[in-house]
Amino acid sequence: MRDDYGLSIWGENNFEIEEDKVVVSYGKKPSLLQITQEIREKGYKGPILLRFPHLIKKQIDSLFSEFQRASKEFNYKGTFNAVFPLKVNQFPNFVNEVIAVSKEYNYGLEAGSKAELIIAMAKTPLGAPITVNGFKDKEMIALCFIAAKSGHNITVTIEGLNELETILEVHKEFNSEFDDKITPKIGMRIRMHSSGVGAWAKSGGYSSKFGLTSTELLIAFDMLKKENLLDRLTMIHFHIGSQMEEIGPLKKALREAGHIYADLIKRGAIALRAINIGGGLAVEYSQNKKNAQRNYSIKEFANDVIYAMQEIAKNKGVQEPNIFTESGRFIAASHAVLIAPVLELFSQEYTAKSLRLKKKNPPLIEELYDLYTSINKQNAREYLHDAIDHLDSLLTLFDLGYIDLEDRSNTEILVNLIIKKAISLLSKEDSDVYIQMQNKFQEKYLVNFSIFQSLPDFWGLGQTFPIMPISNLSQKPTQAASIWDITCDSDGEIAYDANAPLKLHDIDVTKEEYFLAFFLLGAYQEVLGMKHNLFTHPTEATIKFDNEGNYYIDSILEAQNIMDILEDLDYDIGAIDKQLKSNIEESTLIDNKQKQQLLGKLYLYLSENSYLKTIQASKV
Ligand SMILES: *Cc1c(COP(=O)(O)O)cnc(C)c1O
Repeated sequence: MRDDYGLSIWGENNFEIEEDKVVVSYGKKPSLLQITQEIREKGYKGPILLRFPHLIKKQIDSLFSEFQRASKEFNYKGTFNAVFPLKVNQFPNFVNEVIAVSKEYNYGLEAGSKAELIIAMAKTPLGAPITVNGFKDKEMIALCFIAAKSGHNITVTIEGLNELETILEVHKEFNSEFDDKITPKIGMRIRMHSSGVGAWAKSGGYSSKFGLTSTELLIAFDMLKKENLLDRLTMIHFHIGSQMEEIGPLKKALREAGHIYADLIKRGAIALRAINIGGGLAVEYSQNKKNAQRNYSIKEFANDVIYAMQEIAKNKGVQEPNIFTESGRFIAASHAVLIAPVLELFSQEYTAKSLRLKKKNPPLIEELYDLYTSINKQNAREYLHDAIDHLDSLLTLFDLGYIDLEDRSNTEILVNLIIKKAISLLSKEDSDVYIQMQNKFQEKYLVNFSIFQSLPDFWGLGQTFPIMPISNLSQKPTQAASIWDITCDSDGEIAYDANAPLKLHDIDVTKEEYFLAFFLLGAYQEVLGMKHNLFTHPTEATIKFDNEGNYYIDSILEAQNIMDILEDLDYDIGAIDKQLKSNIEESTLIDNKQKQQLLGKLYLYLSENSYLKTIQASKV
């Protein structure tokens, strides 16, 4: 019986299992293994982040087509518009693809800082919307004016009254300095009393960091009116938080926002035409039905938004608003998959060959050996318990000085061999005993990647991501697995979780390559990734498909080399280089020929990245 690692729950038909491999459900369905091997053959080792632009397109298509369908079904008069919030992923190989695959939609970008705004101004096609949220100073607002005057369709959302004051100030400066009177559109972010649910709910609600209270909304309205700028107030905005697990809170927020929209129009907000509902569309990360995180579909989401807006407009007798969304996680998560090589299975050093049995062994070790040779399916559980008891006793004997290091090594090897044998004997049936055993004894897989760099939300928030091997899938995985990364930090572990059990194959990685894939890493993980231990963003490759459905590697960007990493930390790398060189040149321990050889090696290593170069299958 094979394990599909929950693909039917989180996979969205983006990947499937064919024979014994994970393949991309697109074009001629290449396997992830084939793609990985092609990249490694070019000399790139260590973990590789694969980007699939067709999956970005799929998400954008699905967002627009569901809203267009719902608008048609409900005969909705407002338009549908969307922007990608840059904070979710600002990497150029992602953003450039977002722009390339969304041409038909007038899809824009959202910025929350000056640097993001510069990306938005450079990359958004003229006419497509740019929205600007977050805290802004005068300089940032001035940048928005520059964008507007260059022809961008830009809306500045004000988060507080002081921002509006700055906008008015910049408006005066820019429009007296220059003849044309061009001012960005203005949005007002509202501080909702409704809020989201889940780990990221803090963005909404009364205690939120963001938005105007109703009192402030009224003051802002009066300020705009007084300055004759009501014709720039086009949008109200809210965002109830990321990874919205259920849709109930959104419906409440939509009603709240809808009433504010209608009220402001009645008060004379002549240009107010849009409600921006922020982001929050969730992604299903769970590999396990009972832990599923999202209880609605994109179709329901679109229906609920359109319906709620239409109802309020009807009841209040105002125009149906244009709808803006800023979903980021939903658009970006699926496009990035990290492939990382397994370097070692920790119990694999325990082989019968490494036993150093003596002519005369301590009696408990003789007994362990008997258990090992006579264990079978019927006695497996009992023998296993006996072995664990013996382990305790033998380790105590060692501490007391009664047995030596060889005896202790024999003990560890035999106990591990017995555990392994017991698991394989019992794994044929998923008996309670087997499940109990898995909860107790796990194989540790050492994987060439950094959790801090590639799955920071696992470390920071306990967010899980789908994990599966990309090959060997026709065999039943027998090892309850915990995953260790290569950082020197004991937090760099994805421990076995009995509620979401991960089982992997018992592979001899000295003979056979074995890669794990970590899915849904395209949202937030890349830029939140930390350089703990100075492991940097991994080598990335963009995978595209030609018209015949053949895949090709569009670009490869190698992970930073060691000197670049140090330069990022503001080390004087010239000085480091000089020091290392003079250490070798001035050494009195070696001759000139050796000095030359060492220098050659040193410079080779400095040009490489920090990830381990070890490759499996003794292919070094
Ligand atoms: C973070 C953020 C988003 C994106 O949220 P997702 O959950 O990734 O869709 C959208 N709008 C605003 C204002 C945000 O702060």
